[in-house]
Amino acid sequence: MAAPAADHGSAGEVAFLQRVLSLIEQGQKSATYKPAVLLALINCCARRGHVADAQGMSIPVAELAAEVIRLYWDQVRPYPGLPAARSRLRQGSGDRLGGTSGRLAPARIPAAVDRLRDECGPAVRRPEQAELARPQEWQGAVRSVAEALAKRPLHRLQTMGPGSRDGVREAFLFDDSAFGEGVSGSRAITLTVDLRPGVARALVLGAPLLRPAIEVEWSRLVAAFNTLAWPEADLRSFLFDPARSGLGRVRSALIDAEGSGCFWCGQQVGSDGKCNGDKSNRLVVPGLLESWASRDRAALAEIAVDLVWPLGFERSRVTAVSAYSTLADGLPVWEARGVWRLASPDLRREALEVLESTAA
Ligand SMILES: [Zn+2]
Repeated sequence: MAAPAADHGSAGEVAFLQRVLSLIEQGQKSATYKPAVLLALINCCARRGHVADAQGMSIPVAELAAEVIRLYWDQVRPYPGLPAARSRLRQGSGDRLGGTSGRLAPARIPAAVDRLRDECGPAVRRPEQAELARPQEWQGAVRSVAEALAKRPLHRLQTMGPGSRDGVREAFLFDDSAFGEGVSGSRAITLTVDLRPGVARALVLGAPLLRPAIEVEWSRLVAAFNTLAWPEADLRSFLFDPARSGLGRVRSALIDAEGSGCFWCGQQVGSDGKCNGDKSNRLVVPGLLESWASRDRAALAEIAVDLVWPLGFERSRVTAVSAYSTLADGLPVWEARGVWRLASPDLRREALEVLESTAA
């Protein structure tokens, strides 16, 4: 029985993070499924806002599968650095595109995402849109990915050491005894991943360290499966930061509704445009959070309906609650171009008050 993950103070937290990283660094490396499952687990926990998991936390395998689809969505696009005959990146050593049988079949998860994108057609640019506009196709993909997850990566995630089957194994994240090759698709979508007490919170707290480390490991695997040089320029940003592609239609509707001024400072974007770059991926001070919270939600909802685009306000809010409630003291928080404050208990409390006041 594993001890609760993060109740030994910071030394316990660091030990936990090392163990999680060792899962992807030392585990079996025949596919990108391990980093995918870990990243998806972190995202699922972060979407729950205040992580209260003294009793553990259950994440439905279907929810995890949806998150995995979102992760692979951009990755199955044609990669410019490949021969034209093979334009999607291989995601495993046995991922043989165009193959038909046995170990020469395309890897199941990227193939399911590929198929979903085909079914949706070019008008659907983002996975969030696919979920809303093509619910049947989306559910089909979720089912197929859930089955693949339940058969292998969920069963093998916590096995370390070179020999995948016989490696060292301790189920310190969740009890994995329900998973394995025998799980059918219809059973897979009824299962849950029951994270042990403290694990969800430790994953969210560790996300700023885990996320980049997992992305680098995933990119390195993809480079190897595709015999690309490593480090391959742009591979990581192709896989994980597709420059918000497909947001063009939303952009013009938003400019119509809210004007073309910079969201943060109000200056015309033509003459300004530097705020987002300066802010980068940092959180903002509570005052700026208020301008986000006080956007005209009715107008945004109308745009969302017109474009068949999920509004996701509550999802964003809850993700922000999770980010602020785990924000470490002393980290820089963005206030204006070149102006930063350091995170403190007061700043955290103020930010959470703004977010709570806008709860649906
Ligand atoms: Zn600005």
